[in-house]
Amino acid sequence: MYRTKTCGELRLSDAGTTVTLAGWVQRLRKMGGMTFVDLRDRYGITQIVFNNEVNADLCEAANHLGREYVVQVTGTVSERSNKNANLPTGDIEIIAGQLCVLNPSEIPPFTIEDDTDGGDDLRMKYRYLDLRRTAVRKNLELRHKMTMEVRRYLDSKGFLEIETPMLVGSTPEGARDFVVPSRMNQGQFYALPQSPQTLKQLLMVSGMDRYFQIVKCFRDEDLRADRQPEFTQIDCEMSYVHQDDIINLFEGMAKHLFKEIRGIELTEPFQRMPWAEAMKYYGSDKPDLRFGMKFVELMDILKGYGFSVFDNAEYIGGICAKGAASYTRKQIDQLTEFVKRPQIGAKGMVYARIEADGTVKSSVDKFYSQDVLAKVKEAFAAEPGDLILILSGDDAMKTRKQLCELRLEMGNRLGLRDKNQFACLWVVDFPMFEWSDEEQRLMAMHHPFTHPKDEDIALLDTDPAAVRADAYDMVINGVEVGGGSIRIHDSKLQAKMFEILGFTPEKAQEQFGFLMNAFKFGAPPHGGLAYGLDRWVSLFAGLDSIRDCIAFPKNNSGRDVMLDAPAALDQKQLDELALKIDIKE
Ligand code: ASP
Repeated sequence: MYRTKTCGELRLSDAGTTVTLAGWVQRLRKMGGMTFVDLRDRYGITQIVFNNEVNADLCEAANHLGREYVVQVTGTVSERSNKNANLPTGDIEIIAGQLCVLNPSEIPPFTIEDDTDGGDDLRMKYRYLDLRRTAVRKNLELRHKMTMEVRRYLDSKGFLEIETPMLVGSTPEGARDFVVPSRMNQGQFYALPQSPQTLKQLLMVSGMDRYFQIVKCFRDEDLRADRQPEFTQIDCEMSYVHQDDIINLFEGMAKHLFKEIRGIELTEPFQRMPWAEAMKYYGSDKPDLRFGMKFVELMDILKGYGFSVFDNAEYIGGICAKGAASYTRKQIDQLTEFVKRPQIGAKGMVYARIEADGTVKSSVDKFYSQDVLAKVKEAFAAEPGDLILILSGDDAMKTRKQLCELRLEMGNRLGLRDKNQFACLWVVDFPMFEWSDEEQRLMAMHHPFTHPKDEDIALLDTDPAAVRADAYDMVINGVEVGGGSIRIHDSKLQAKMFEILGFTPEKAQEQFGFLMNAFKFGAPPHGGLAYGLDRWVSLFAGLDSIRDCIAFPKNNSGRDVMLDAPAALDQKQLDELALKIDIKE
């Protein structure tokens, strides 16, 4: 037997017993005639003691151990004189009787402890060592627990876990495809699934009724902290359902996860906010509702006083930061710089401070009387000590998005975005389409399989941009943790949708003929949703990036620096695939 116990389980009640442990040498300390080793495995750390006076040879052997050596130790559990309250095993130590080096280690490139000296790149290159650290391992344990609870919940609701293929054709979700060349069909390519969307719909046509899969999805798009080129979805689909059925079932799942994973009992139904309201009051389709600072529109109050910036603006709106009137000139300048950053793109910011006597001091006092400023104050129900921040612009949607960034920044600065507080809501009634400047055509906001709201179907011919969809997103703390829709199950409506999206009938047939055909053989009404597993785990673990809950993530350029992928193919492989590389400088 390599071990009789793990490094995490021995307690004072085990004192006097003989045990064998195996693990990694985290640390070695020599004190007088004693050598102390912190022995680590997945379950914890146990202190091993080698006493020079009792067994000089053994102690000498221990002194030659290095960090991350894999060793096996047999010894007696004994009560520690110097107890360590920070360790579950801190009441005991093992008086070593035997030591066997199972495998030595080179000096690791960084220290494998909670506080490591390794930078990001180095830890990614040696990810298998990084994963030995408690903090990173804990995230994977949480992830495991989540997937187990997801399976338990969905199984209890009659869902079948069914796998769908990875080598498929294009499954559009608004990103570029990752493609795989086919050797047996030269010049032809598979696409990796952006999601199993069409396949899960076909499973509904097959009568599976309730499907789920914890599945990898692949999207070739620019990366951010909450995106990876491959990521995991909890993908679900149900037959014979309306939007409410889906929302209720998956809100139930969210509550189940909160309870089982975080011990938080959410009893109230989640708020449902129409998309139009989310955009109007928060400038985002994923508002962070942990704090207020709802937008107030000020066009009616502030136009017409000769301040040309406002007079020429289509939109003027602001937020009120409680208690922030004490902000110094410098802090306000920083905020102005913040909104002017190219990623945000505002031209400037106007502020109005509510003074202790109730008067308003603003950066545009020249143009506005106290009477007008009092109306602004009233519009926000602002009180002495508050700070009003105002943005304006000639594109309402763009300005709202800028104001959204400012709101989130103020939320951060005022400490209103506590990671241990959760604000959950559904955003509903998304528009069916959005205009793409790049493509110069309407694009599906969710995806082309989404059902328009019944009452808006007539608008498909006359005013498609006004059509709303039976689509919904779950948002927690400003993060879209999942989304889905009721689907089209009628082949004619599906064909019409492709037409509006600019597909010729031939192109639609070529790409999605299989689906429209399937709909001709008795497709049940159906709908579903997908939750982003990585986002859920990082939310529950309080992480800033989804990378930290993925065993082997890619970096911001989509590279796996450990495997050094992607990489060039050798000529033989290229020839087999009939591929020629032609890189333009
Ligand atoms: N396929 C969608 C997505 O990946 C989710 C869904 O509509 O069920 O976002």
